[in-house]
Amino acid sequence: MEKTSKIYVAGHRGLVGGAICRQLEEQGFTNLVVRTSAELDLRDQQQVNAFFEQERPEYVFLAAAKVGGIYANDTYPAEFIRDNLLIQTNVIDAAYKHEAAKLLFLGSSCIYPKFAPQPMTEDCLLTGSLEPTNEWYAIAKIAGIKMCQAYRKQYGFDAISAMPTNLYGQGDNFHPQNSHVLPAILQRFHNAKHEQEESVTVWGTGSPLREFLHVDDMARACIFLMEEYSGHDHVNVGSGKEISILQLAELVAECVGYKGAIVTDPSKPDGTPRKLMDSRKLFDMGWQPELELREGITQTYQWYLDNYVNGT
Ligand code: GDP
Repeated sequence: MEKTSKIYVAGHRGLVGGAICRQLEEQGFTNLVVRTSAELDLRDQQQVNAFFEQERPEYVFLAAAKVGGIYANDTYPAEFIRDNLLIQTNVIDAAYKHEAAKLLFLGSSCIYPKFAPQPMTEDCLLTGSLEPTNEWYAIAKIAGIKMCQAYRKQYGFDAISAMPTNLYGQGDNFHPQNSHVLPAILQRFHNAKHEQEESVTVWGTGSPLREFLHVDDMARACIFLMEEYSGHDHVNVGSGKEISILQLAELVAECVGYKGAIVTDPSKPDGTPRKLMDSRKLFDMGWQPELELREGITQTYQWYLDNYVNGT
């Protein structure tokens, strides 16, 4: 990519898309194209084609998706499968037809089988059944990877896919029910601190293991892959470090300054027991994450205070 290349970031108001825009600007890229969902409904093929016809971006980061945590995925299955299939199909096809030089599609670690051997390598895709709570989203993301591969194979279109582990950070969704674990409990600890509540409940048994990566690291990885990688296979992007949900809750409580008790609620779903990605392929290309979890959570809490609590 040249610093003046025209770059379209789809989903720039989301967690990942927002971080990609910030990183691109920080690295001196000056020609970014973005549209809000009100300006351009990516589920509408005609609108997407008209947009690509008009703008003809050279590079496309496809970070637009309908996303959510374990509860949202389980509650809105039709929306998760439909909206994601539409968005990615329209954007990948329009990018190819309007001669974009390259596209990066963003997936998720939930594409891997529920009981995949850990850490999960790229080649365990489609070797077993998915975690039922998010299979709708996962199926759409798997279709996106396959579409990139098919367009490369048949048309020679340079479409690559990156699969992030659980992401968090500035720009996250703090919805009490529909968000992912880290923002959900961060907000719960914050409220409990202010209401002086004696205990905070985390969903499930607290024993599932998860790997977390700060979204700024993810954005750096996406730009790195856009510049360095052109291949058929998707690439895992993780931190390589895992933590139990209970340990995570303790760490978040510490960062927020909440001193009460933490209790688990096993009546809520645990989801998949363990989800650690093997990111050696990316690490071997020379990329490494920069932010430690504690530092990342502290930054995220500050962002939450500035944007949600103090409303600046
Ligand atoms: P997942 O990684 O796809 O399962 O997505 P989540 O981030 O939604 O959930 C991760 C784990 O955190 C699961 O075991 C949840 O049960 C657990 N968890 C604990 N408290 C919460 C919460 O308040 N919200 C969410 N979304 N998950 C929670």
